[in-house]
Amino acid sequence: MKIVRIGDSLNEYEGEFALVFWMCGCNIHCNYCYNYKTVMNLANSKFNEMDVIKAITDGADLYSALVATGGEPTCQQDDLYKLFEVVRCKMPHSIKLKIHSNGTNLNFLSEMINDDLLDSLTFDIKLGDLVDWKLFDGDKVTYNIIEFTKRFHNIINIEWRSTLPIDYSGPDTRNIKMQSNKIGVDWIRQTLLTEEDLKKIGELDG
Ligand code: SF4
Repeated sequence: MKIVRIGDSLNEYEGEFALVFWMCGCNIHCNYCYNYKTVMNLANSKFNEMDVIKAITDGADLYSALVATGGEPTCQQDDLYKLFEVVRCKMPHSIKLKIHSNGTNLNFLSEMINDDLLDSLTFDIKLGDLVDWKLFDGDKVTYNIIEFTKRFHNIINIEWRSTLPIDYSGPDTRNIKMQSNKIGVDWIRQTLLTEEDLKKIGELDG
């Protein structure tokens, strides 16, 4: 498993103190991605699944949730499945499991739910012309996420997030809002970083 970073978070799983790990690789390219350079550079991969297990063990009194983000975690689906299986079935204390995904690999996510290896999911809903959808039909991906959410949101917690420019209001904005209201799922807007912020992150990224 290739992981670029492991850290604590109070934001990534509501009500829980979470251990978060950022996985390498992504199958799409959003032009606002704040860590694309990092997650696509496999040379940056300093950690693996053993480091995650060690961090959970060391923080057994601290963590109540484990969150996989990236990049797109499902790009390493076999390793992710094995890790969540170990954490759920072999670790001595109970810990909630969450994935942050762009929604392009729903078959894998439904398998995780059916095998009781997932308690929460955040979908990154892509809007407008902010994404390079060369390999995917963006409308279809969004449609599939909506249908998936309808099917599973009574079984596990699901939320939607979108990263948008401050003044963005495309035609799909209303549709997504309407769908989130209908299903009863939270849709959280994250404001797009400014050019200045992106520059700073690029410098940190090296
Ligand atoms: S899906 Fe996420 S990790 Fe991948 S490019 Fe977009 S914002 Fe970055």
